[in-house]
Amino acid sequence: MAIQSFTSKITKKVFLNDDVFVITLTAPEEFTFKAGQFVTLRVHCGEESKLRSYSILNAPSEKGKIDLCIKIIEGGFASECFKTIKEGDEYEVKGPFGHFMFDEASENKEHWLISNGTGVVPMYSIVKEFLSKNSDLKFTMLFGSKYKKDLIFHQEFLKLAEQNSNFTYIPSITREEWEGRTGRVQTHLPEDLKNKTFYICGLKELVVETKDILIEKGVDAKNIKFERYS
Ligand SMILES: Cc1cc2nc3c(=O)[nH]c(=O)nc-3n(C[C@H](O)[C@H](O)[C@H](O)COP(=O)(O)OP(=O)(O)OC[C@H]3O[C@@H](n4cnc5c(N)ncnc54)[C@H](O)[C@@H]3O)c2cc1C
Repeated sequence: MAIQSFTSKITKKVFLNDDVFVITLTAPEEFTFKAGQFVTLRVHCGEESKLRSYSILNAPSEKGKIDLCIKIIEGGFASECFKTIKEGDEYEVKGPFGHFMFDEASENKEHWLISNGTGVVPMYSIVKEFLSKNSDLKFTMLFGSKYKKDLIFHQEFLKLAEQNSNFTYIPSITREEWEGRTGRVQTHLPEDLKNKTFYICGLKELVVETKDILIEKGVDAKNIKFERYS
């Protein structure tokens, strides 16, 4: 898939909670990507500018735009600039990049999407693109966060699970009690790991630990796809 560079304008900005927001950027009609891939933004802050990577939230079939979902990290270079990001701002965008994508060639019928924090972003794109087109496949979304308020897209995933019998949503919280599951997502992996493909995305600890558990329990590396944010 050809990598493109273009100047893009923010047309919409919506906060999902205190420190996570979604922006919609314009993209040329010919911009194409695979669900799960990411773009880079050049972020200018004062005299300096740095490249930062962000997974694409929308499905590839939604043309002419790129939705990104970004968490503000206190003290982070780009994050500090993003505190004042607004509609009309322009960014240099480059992409798509990455090999973290849905394995369309897999013979496995069960696909486990495992993430925490904004690691859920590429998973949502994958679900939007492939869930309704593949009623013979089963998707399980295992999604972790510290607090319930940080379960971004929680209502959307509950609704998807209600509307699609082939979609199961398993959220888990680590820092408070609630009506759902608690503990790290790695503790909720299925007993039977055979004939399944696992997709893992998020911070280093989650990705490395989950990958190690799966490998140790005999899952073939070709059935483990991952993307690390740190
Ligand atoms: C392929 C790829 C895709 C990514 N997609 C997204 C995305 O969709 N949404 C998103 O918010 N970030 C995403 N990131 C992380 C993003 O690129 C930046 O690292 C993040 O925005 C912090 O940049 P900063 O300049 O503000 O902080 P920096 O000054 O670069 O670093 C601050 C600290 O924040 C940590 N950190 C980085 N990302 C996160 C995170 N998401 N949550 C908690 N801590 C973090 C870093 O490990 C570092 O210790 C992605 C990273 C990669 C490599």
